Amino acid sequence: QPPVRDRLRIAIQKNGRLSEPARALLSSCGLSWRESPDRLFCYGETAPVDLLLVRDDDIPGLITSGVCDLGIVGRNVLLEEVSLADLEGQPYNAKELRALGFGGCRLAIAVPQAWTWTGIEDLRGRRIATSYPGILQRWLDDAGIDATTVQLSGSVEIAPRLGQADVVCDLVSSGATLAANQLTPVMDLMTSEAVLVGTTQPLDPARAALLDMLLRRLDGVLKIRDSKLLMFRAARTALPELMSLLPDAESPTVLGVIEDDDAVSLQTLCHGVVTWQRLEALQRAGARGLMVLPVERMLA
Ligand code: ATP
Ligand code: MG
Repeated sequence: QPPVRDRLRIAIQKNGRLSEPARALLSSCGLSWRESPDRLFCYGETAPVDLLLVRDDDIPGLITSGVCDLGIVGRNVLLEEVSLADLEGQPYNAKELRALGFGGCRLAIAVPQAWTWTGIEDLRGRRIATSYPGILQRWLDDAGIDATTVQLSGSVEIAPRLGQADVVCDLVSSGATLAANQLTPVMDLMTSEAVLVGTTQPLDPARAALLDMLLRRLDGVLKIRDSKLLMFRAARTALPELMSLLPDAESPTVLGVIEDDDAVSLQTLCHGVVTWQRLEALQRAGARGLMVLPVERMLA
């Protein structure tokens, strides 16, 4: 019997697109770490939650093997492992716990700009270069398309120019990399963003409690990321029109105004972005003294 680990261990990307936002998100959950000289292991200071800094491809495996309890990785990386297991008829014991709202991209089929794309049937018999053979194969199987997968670990976008493949199945965010290689995205296999991954196996009570605490803090952080506290005064009669301008706001708290029975002061948590245009629209509808305040923490 290995000794029971009473600290939670989270795997995040060491260097790459997700490294900084992942750490920033965990920091905003009140965690901080003492860095080791090799920058591989970070010891949790404010809570018994440690970090392991690794290549993103290793993160799902660290969780399924029980070395780490949680990980932050692109949904594409998790889904690839799930797909490979699925193609072999195996269950997979890690799953997405939360979508984290950064690292957005999609996995798309991109074809040479010179092609006239008519639909998925155009892929029949073609060679498709990708780093995501599992996701691609399941997608092709679902569509009943026979094609050849050319598995590449990087620089997928130059494969057609090198004659290694006819089309690619690659991650796209702005599309600039594809355009620079005379490719154009024609179909999405999935949309991705960074996700918190956890084991499907039960944790021991100490770590289960830590996970629970972390998830509750994370939900608070994610919920208020774009939220603002909006405050203003208005005539009671103007309220219906004002509320119609705030479909993304929570039911407001209404306070009375001293020596003015017809006026109220409102405060509400607004989940969408509060632009100047919205404030001006509210003002035209009778709101006065509009204030937009940042929300730092929230516990449901
Ligand atoms: P590592 O060295 O850790 O293996 P990597 O090169 O595999 O790094 P990055 O390029 O840092 O990984 O990308 C990490 C994740 O960022 C991707 O798996 C994907 O979820 C997301 N991402 C967002 N936009 C893009 C994009 N335009 N291209 C590639 N990945 C993107
Ligand atoms: Mg990688």
